[in-house]
Amino acid sequence: MSARHVIVVGASLAGTRTARALREQGFTGRLTLVGDEPHPPYDRPPLSKRILDGDRWTDADGTVGDTAEDLAEDLAEIALPTVDDLDVELRAGVAAVALRPADRTLLLTDGDRLRWDGLVVATGAAARPWPTPAPAGVHTLRTLDDARALRRALAAPDARLLVVGAGFLGSEVAAAAVRRGVPVTLVEAGTLPLVRAVGTAVGEFVARLHREAGIDLRTGTRVRSLTGTDRVTGAHLDDGTHVPATVVLAALGAVPRTAWLRGSGLLLDGAVVCDEFGRALAEDGTVVPGVVAVGDASRRPHPLAPGTLHLGHWSAAVEHSALAARVLLRREADGAPPEPPATVPSFWSDLHGVRIRSLGLPHLADEARTVEYDPPGRRLVVSYHRAGEPVGVLAVNRAGRLAAHRPLLVEAVRAARRRAAVPPVA
Ligand SMILES: Cc1cc2nc3c(=O)[nH]c(=O)nc-3n(C[C@H](O)[C@H](O)[C@H](O)COP(=O)(O)OP(=O)(O)OC[C@H]3O[C@@H](n4cnc5c(N)ncnc54)[C@H](O)[C@@H]3O)c2cc1C
Repeated sequence: MSARHVIVVGASLAGTRTARALREQGFTGRLTLVGDEPHPPYDRPPLSKRILDGDRWTDADGTVGDTAEDLAEDLAEIALPTVDDLDVELRAGVAAVALRPADRTLLLTDGDRLRWDGLVVATGAAARPWPTPAPAGVHTLRTLDDARALRRALAAPDARLLVVGAGFLGSEVAAAAVRRGVPVTLVEAGTLPLVRAVGTAVGEFVARLHREAGIDLRTGTRVRSLTGTDRVTGAHLDDGTHVPATVVLAALGAVPRTAWLRGSGLLLDGAVVCDEFGRALAEDGTVVPGVVAVGDASRRPHPLAPGTLHLGHWSAAVEHSALAARVLLRREADGAPPEPPATVPSFWSDLHGVRIRSLGLPHLADEARTVEYDPPGRRLVVSYHRAGEPVGVLAVNRAGRLAAHRPLLVEAVRAARRRAAVPPVA
């Protein structure tokens, strides 16, 4: 085993999965997990689903309160598997502030300087904030505390929600709020919800779901300015209208949390730029020995995509973690180096009672073919192609249809890899 002390920075999905993978792959050395959140590790997709849309909206007394018991119940809903069995030193509530690959040290906010043999960057992403100073009532959603604050604001009897950005997260929150009887306006600069990620057919389908549910969907317009001095009262849109709101959710995407790596010599393009194995690259393009990056904090090449890809998907974080452990440990009992992964990215979203699932990289397509279209049944299947080759598939309430497409996509990834001829880890 070449690594004696591995430090994982970021104690959420990718970090805890990597810690587990290291142990499962036989690492017996010292393992430290550094996480800056005050809570035990938890999963994020349920924040916009079970926490905002589930039974946890109200207690018997009409609200979900702020007691320790309420928090414990929320955490129990969304907890990630415990790391207690991993013989891991958990440094909770502490952030990493600087990395020095040259002398293999990591500096923490509590002043500790830790030496490492292997280091995993798993610091994820933060919600992109509202671009200008905002009055009270303007929210973002990335953490459990964010979700609890948003739920509390929406539980007010006079709540009116304005969601800015009709991507997956904005669409899920709009759907959750309207289902609870909150009037919702959803503003999207693009021509349709989700259009940049998954194209027109799915965008039109989701727009119909939003409107049928009673959401006031405004597309092709932007928020010009928020109104209200102490508390938000609404927003002026580019089209000259004013939307009243007591609560605003800025659903503007996510920004990788890599500011702490500035000055480390790691190559950053928002996220840590990696090779296909997740090994961090230095600013001169060489591999930084002993450092890997996983999940939302990383970007890496994918055979189907030009340049490097930052996915921000749950399943990508999971896949990166297993590979990162293999690469760090270089388990070569059989003499074989890790193979490049033939991964087909996948994603899901739940809104208005339908489940959307996708495989591949639909945003790369130059052509989308509608395979099945059944609005009354709330079902849709779209396949995505580039230069005639499959690059993705998306199914609404038709997950079973994905199975037939998966082998085609796996083969497309393999063929693209053969053309690129990625060498194995040396
Ligand atoms: C509301 C919501 C809904 C989502 N729904 C879906 C979905 O339906 N499907 C899907 O595929 N994906 C979904 N995602 C995306 C998915 O949750 C992410 O891809 C996943 O959480 C990435 O995991 P990660 O561990 O890389 O990063 P994160 O989950 O962001 O975790 C990073 C951790 O590192 C900590 N950290 C950051 N900086 C430091 C530091 N300097 N020192 C110590 N610790 C630090 C952070 O506090 C955090 O705990 C959703 C995300 C959100 C926010």
